[in-house]
Amino acid sequence: MTIEEAKQIIEDVTQPLGMTVKQFDEAQFHSLAEDVLSKVSMPPFNRSAMDGFACRKKDLSGPLKVIDNIPAGCFSCKTIQKGECARIMTGAPVPDGADTVIMIEYIEERADHSILFVKDKTNTNISLKGEDLKPGDLLLPRGTLLKSHHIAILAGAGVDTVKVYVQPRVGIISTGSELIEPGIQQQPGMIFNSNGHQLLTRLKELGLSGHYYGIGRDDYEALKELIHRATEEMDVLLITGGVSVGDYDFVPAIFKELGFTIHVSKVAAKPGKHTLFASKDSTYVLGLPGNPVSTYVQFEECGRLLINRLMGSAYRPLRLKTKMAEDYQRKRNDRFELLPVKINGDGCVERLSYHGSAHMHVLSAADALLEIPIGTNHLITHQEVYVRPL
Ligand code: AMP
Ligand code: MG
Repeated sequence: MTIEEAKQIIEDVTQPLGMTVKQFDEAQFHSLAEDVLSKVSMPPFNRSAMDGFACRKKDLSGPLKVIDNIPAGCFSCKTIQKGECARIMTGAPVPDGADTVIMIEYIEERADHSILFVKDKTNTNISLKGEDLKPGDLLLPRGTLLKSHHIAILAGAGVDTVKVYVQPRVGIISTGSELIEPGIQQQPGMIFNSNGHQLLTRLKELGLSGHYYGIGRDDYEALKELIHRATEEMDVLLITGGVSVGDYDFVPAIFKELGFTIHVSKVAAKPGKHTLFASKDSTYVLGLPGNPVSTYVQFEECGRLLINRLMGSAYRPLRLKTKMAEDYQRKRNDRFELLPVKINGDGCVERLSYHGSAHMHVLSAADALLEIPIGTNHLITHQEVYVRPL
């Protein structure tokens, strides 16, 4: 199965979990469950874009008598007539009669306190009522995953509550009898658990608080108990290791025994061939191969898609087109590869010394993942390629 097919299956099998109403300032990292339409105009009135003097453009050649002073937050009841102007600050409503605001830097004050425009041209410097948004306009579409700029858009339009999809409860289990947590004395044969902590902190970066169930030993019954508990308590379980075909890779059999349907168990992807996706009712599991680069990459590919989908928003990783700075070759071409690479000063792709999917240290030097399509063995210098910025 190609990674695209696997991702399509994840989309097809899942649906948003449920909805709730949130205060706009508590809705970050949630996605909108409804189109939000504007109830207001933006700007709400003809607004001065400069500190200066509001007047009529056709009077600019002569002296202008200052008849009012309008700071932001005030509304002038006066109408600007021939030869008149009002001192006005940025953000204040432009008074009736005026069609231009001349910048404070472009005037001279005269002895009688009238002013004179001393340049030969000016912009209008007025933001017209409703030029950004009119009542009924679409403020934000359903499915928008709310980031800080969206919160600003809601706040700016005076929206105080929004209907959003609930976030999934996400559990994490790291499997492997060789695993120990950092801080514990390393004995022969032991490996420090990195995946569990990578996933937990990645979830935090995405605004989700994952629940860490710790390390599951490669003991069928004990692991089954742990998986059973986690899948009872969570909407999504991310489980690393134990998903491939080794003697102690019990995870697929446990899911089957617990009544899960396995939709994906092998993908033509590198790293991450043994990525597993299964579901039972509205509980979903993503099994990620234990090598840390595999876990990292396949969480970005499949994990984020799954989580976003459950919270009602699409997930499309950002892809940028660039060029190879050097040649690249690989022996086999039967898998879609995401290869950690460096982006040089010209924006082109340079290789990194990379020893395979256990070599997570490469990620600290990598700027992006290079896409190498199925069927491609060689990439040549200057060839156009796609990268995913990290
Ligand atoms: P597995 O997918 O269980 O066959 O594991 C593949 C490789 O990844 C083995 O070398 C494991 O020791 C290693 N590995 C598995 N889980 C982790 C983890 N949580 N952190 C670091 N390495 C791991
Ligand atoms: Mg293992």
